[in-house]
Amino acid sequence: MRYHYVTVTQQMEIAHCAWCGRAFAVSGGSGRKARYCRRSHRQRAFEARCLAARMGLDSGEALVDAAALCRLRDRLYVLESALDDVEADLRGRPAPEEYRRAFQHLYAAAAPLRDSCVEPSAVLSRDAAHRP
Ligand SMILES: [Zn+2]
Repeated sequence: MRYHYVTVTQQMEIAHCAWCGRAFAVSGGSGRKARYCRRSHRQRAFEARCLAARMGLDSGEALVDAAALCRLRDRLYVLESALDDVEADLRGRPAPEEYRRAFQHLYAAAAPLRDSCVEPSAVLSRDAAHRP
């Protein structure tokens, strides 16, 4: 008996989720491209568009939690301050140890941003009119 093997190669492309912005792999076929990294994000985007429409938001406007926005602003301020510190510390001819300390300082300031996410409860993005 002879076997014939067929290899199906599916090209994958990288897209960014229309809800959370994270990169995810999508098949490069001719069908409709996925816009969300997971179903729950597709659902959240749908709910946010519906709420935005009920609230009469204009294209490009979003409703976000005020406390979450304040937390994000605080973390960005910490990062901005750390950048100022590092720029001042690395003027001239810094020693390798100063670069190491600068990196640690920046990392400590940037790390809390990794898990920072401000998701809108209502949003009508500028390209919402083109969404299916
Ligand atoms: Zn997502």
